[in-house]
Amino acid sequence: MDQPSQHTLPTAAELGVSEGEYERILRDLRQRSGSDEPPAAVASRRRRAGWLPLAVLAFVAAAVSWSLTPSDPEPTYAFMHEVDGRPITYTSCGLIQVAVYPAGGPPNAEELVREAVAEMRSATGLDITVVGAFGGHAPNWNFEAGPVHRDDPISVSWQDGESIAELTEHTAGLGGSRTIAGPDGTQRLVAGTIALSRDYYASLTESGDDDEALAVLLHEFGHVFGLGHVDSRAELMDASNSSRTSFGKGDLQGLRLLGQGPCQ
Ligand SMILES: [Zn+2]
Repeated sequence: MDQPSQHTLPTAAELGVSEGEYERILRDLRQRSGSDEPPAAVASRRRRAGWLPLAVLAFVAAAVSWSLTPSDPEPTYAFMHEVDGRPITYTSCGLIQVAVYPAGGPPNAEELVREAVAEMRSATGLDITVVGAFGGHAPNWNFEAGPVHRDDPISVSWQDGESIAELTEHTAGLGGSRTIAGPDGTQRLVAGTIALSRDYYASLTESGDDDEALAVLLHEFGHVFGLGHVDSRAELMDASNSSRTSFGKGDLQGLRLLGQGPCQ
């Protein structure tokens, strides 16, 4: 005997959707079946033919993917520097050093940078390593043009509006790299600089917001390795990002490509 029951349909939990989305899907099923009967009845009537439950499942799956699409934007990324449609990158076959200048930063400054670097290694596949914490000023710490060398480390330091005018009270950090021509004339990124706001990090230390402290650093590392801003709240490289604290799918696609530049 046929058991007309809701069990014919997968539950919201099985579909991995919220109760609200589940209700919307059921409503949609009802409308498409042209029936005012509850969905259990629609499903049980279909069960009389052996293949129909499968069709119902397929339809539910299609309805789920359709209903999720509008709130699940396409992954997106942008490159900071491009030549002939190709991104300018760090060398893909050398050690990339990162030096930490913790003065004025949070108590866990070096640990924070090590955590971010581990994520950048995994996202880009590049050989990035923290060489240690130093006193004084890093070369190129304020982004001012000076001679740079291909092996200059990426520096991470904490600054304020007095030392760097662009570090206004609305800016959590700044990040970027210089470009120089490699031996074969190909442009490459070198001497990355990250300057983080002392005031902002002091407020994060006070509130204990470690996720945001890491997120700002990852965003700036994104710039250093060649990612530009995008207009998508699903990505950490969103220009006005204020809630996301980890790389999105598009960020990761872009970083993977930036790790596959020329070996030079
Ligand atoms: Zn940015």
